[in-house]
Amino acid sequence: MSHVKSSISTPHANPSPLQVQNWLQALGLLDLGLVSLEKGLLSKELERLRLWLSEGYHGDMAYLARSPDQRADPAQLLPEAQTALVVGLPYLPKPGPQWRMDEEAALTDPLRAVVSIYARGRDYHKVLRGRLAELARLMAQASQRPLADFRACVDSAPLMEVALAAKAQQGWQGKNTLLLTRAQGSLLFLGVLLTRLPVNAFSKRLVQASTAAAAAEGHCGSCTDCL
Ligand code: SF4
Repeated sequence: MSHVKSSISTPHANPSPLQVQNWLQALGLLDLGLVSLEKGLLSKELERLRLWLSEGYHGDMAYLARSPDQRADPAQLLPEAQTALVVGLPYLPKPGPQWRMDEEAALTDPLRAVVSIYARGRDYHKVLRGRLAELARLMAQASQRPLADFRACVDSAPLMEVALAAKAQQGWQGKNTLLLTRAQGSLLFLGVLLTRLPVNAFSKRLVQASTAAAAAEGHCGSCTDCL
């Protein structure tokens, strides 16, 4: 594993809480919380992934079987990463409850072809990565750190985004394997900004929000609707 020289030992300003909140809001991103990247943080998830792979559940998705260890170790994507900032990009077609009725009406209309709502619009990888890159730029500037102290991850990097998001405790991994939040359900794209900033560089409010929110260990209860 290669190691990039850390700049943590030099004094840095931290972005103010208000700045981080304002940037997220301006970029249209939901704050899904912070995770301190302790060693072994994802060891249980890695165990489950190995078991899942050994049963062959990945089918012909061979890429899932490549480097499972790497998926559980964010430091392999950004050496000396200390914190993951997890964000969500909602893809509800419109605000309010009406969208569901509109979608159901479209599904029963034989004259309409319906594309799944997550696949409409621009490729979310590009949209979300672009916004995370801008967030990284702003944070690097405010904290007087090199941009290399940040890495934006949106699906393409081998990382357990859902597991990290569940650790951030703003949601939980549903039986449908997706992240669910009470406000958005699973209708959001997940992105992770890895950074060498320590978790305490962020506002107390952000950290408290991450640790005080509902337990990550699931609220599906006995529901099995998606299985
Ligand atoms: S089991 Fe029910 S609550 Fe859980 S993800 Fe599936 S549909 Fe949603």
